[in-house]
Amino acid sequence: MSIIDIENLRYDYVRAAEEGNVTVSAIRGIDLSVEPGSFTAVIGRNGSGKSTLAKNLNGLLLPTEGVVRVDGWDTRDDEHIWDVRQAAGMVFQNPDNQLVASIVEDDVAFGPENLGVEPEEIREIVDQSLTAVNMYEFREKSPHFLSGGQKQRVAIASVIAMKPKCIIFDEPTAMLDPQGRKEIMKIIEHLHEQGTTIVLITHFMDEAVRADRIVIMNDGDVLMDGTPEEVFSEPAKIRSVDLDVPMAVELADRLRDQGVKVPKNVITQEDLVDFICQFK
Ligand code: ADP
Ligand code: MG
Repeated sequence: MSIIDIENLRYDYVRAAEEGNVTVSAIRGIDLSVEPGSFTAVIGRNGSGKSTLAKNLNGLLLPTEGVVRVDGWDTRDDEHIWDVRQAAGMVFQNPDNQLVASIVEDDVAFGPENLGVEPEEIREIVDQSLTAVNMYEFREKSPHFLSGGQKQRVAIASVIAMKPKCIIFDEPTAMLDPQGRKEIMKIIEHLHEQGTTIVLITHFMDEAVRADRIVIMNDGDVLMDGTPEEVFSEPAKIRSVDLDVPMAVELADRLRDQGVKVPKNVITQEDLVDFICQFK
């Protein structure tokens, strides 16, 4: 069974204006399923519907049309909205919107407390979750004094504490410096290795190539869906929707123009270095 199963999802924002209601169709009928334990990256230009899709994956928004099932639960089923939210955790771009308590560990305890977990077990879960994101030593600090990257790690710990099967990250590194980005990516890859299903929305191509599947959104629709190798083998199509291709793909393409036979599966910097080193 898929952990996320989307059938013909449409989502319209309706806004009241003087001249009558204005409807924006943010998602225009997409089908998508996500397998347990997989790592999917979602990319697409601003306004292509990525965040709207993300919010439909844990019941923060409900379909205008179509069905979204998370771990088997229909997100429109009121009685199981907490099952949906627990199965699919969300991490947003700005951790300030996600941290509510004045002490780091209270923030992380918030989720399990709401799930009715016993206090002793909560203590253990909080410690484990903070350790998993390398923030244990900051457990008694106020989030106020943390850097953006540290706050984002606490936000991730708060989600981990709910023991979700799947975590949806909506541009979690967009506000961070390169070092902060690297640390978040390391945590995401580690969670994936441990079996958590990952959906990562990002505009950094070097992050997207880490996934085992890339979904490209355009104008509320899925434009491409495949392995990084498949997707980046059509650089022109990607550029046509205002997206960059990863640096290594770009370089490999230029080498091919010069007659060097670079295999199609060279997409990360490591791949390219390995390819070049065989000529040493
Ligand atoms: P992305 O995350 O890819 O940038 P979004 O899902 O945020 O895209 O937005 C998709 C479309 O929906 C855009 O046209 C955007 O302007 C519109 N939109 C997003 N949020 C709202 C909202 N709260 N009200 C009205 N329109 C919205
Ligand atoms: Mg967005």
